[in-house]
Order: sequence, then C-alpha cells, then structure tokens
Amino acid sequence: MFFIKDFHFMKIALKEAFIAFHKNEVPIGAAITYKDSVIAKSHNLTESFSRITAHAEILAINLASKFLKEKYIRECTLYVTIEPCVMCAGALFWSQIGRVVCGASNNKRGFLYSGIKLHPRTKFVSGIMRNQCEDLIRKFFFFKRIYKSTNIRLSSN
Ligand SMILES: [Zn+2]
Repeated sequence: MFFIKDFHFMKIALKEAFIAFHKNEVPIGAAITYKDSVIAKSHNLTESFSRITAHAEILAINLASKFLKEKYIRECTLYVTIEPCVMCAGALFWSQIGRVVCGASNNKRGFLYSGIKLHPRTKFVSGIMRNQCEDLIRKFFFFKRIYKSTNIRLSSN
C-alpha cells in the first residue's frame, strides 16, 4: 500500500537516478527516510568508483547507518527507482530496514524471482511511479545503443 508521501520521496530517488544518467551510470536512484525526513540519498556509481558494489541502495544504507550511528536501520524506509538486485536485497536483509518502496520491477536482475527474501520485519511495496522509473532506464540503454552503433564515445563525467 502506498501513501501520498511515497510519491514525494520517490521523486527524490528519481532525481538521484537522473544525476546518474548524466554521469553515464545506469540510472538507478535511492533515498532513505527516517521519521519522514530524508537522511540519505544516492545513485548508482559503479562506473565512477570502478566498484561493482557501488549500487544506489548499498551506498544509501551505508549513509543512513552512518547518520543514525546504527547498524540496523529498522525505523527507515528505502525508496529505490528499480527493484533491488540480489546483492542489495541481501544488504537490506542485514540492515533489517522497516520498509522498501520500489518503482519499476526488474525481471532480469531483481531479487523477487531469485528466491531471496527481505527480512521478515521489512514491508515491501512496488510499482510507485513505475513508468517514470522505467522510462529513464529505457532511455539510457536506447542512447547507449545509438552511441555504440555510431561509434561516438560517451564521456564518463
Ligand atoms: Zn543492487
């Protein structure tokens, strides 16, 4: 079930995804709230950091834990534009996060069909602003294909 505030916070995650888009990173964004305030926001930075673990969700979990000085972020909600992958779902499990709200689903790399489960205390909802979240990803790969086929190099920053 969605709340009105979910749209507001998902827009913040989408803005992060948009920043990633302009850095030539796969455009996935995340935001974590605590008591209805944003305490962490991040976007995918795997190319910039040359680090496969630099997914938006992992970076956001780390920031939220740092902010709260807690390893468990039970009172928090994660907003993420695309369904988390198995690595991020694992990190979310360990974080014992209270709620995960995601935009578009990810049939290829998402955790839902992998059999991996979030922590029993974690509430999960998906599909909020799905079209906008999907659109950004679709555009990203569309442009990637065009650049590739025309041999134009994308600058990395
Ligand atoms: Zn991930």
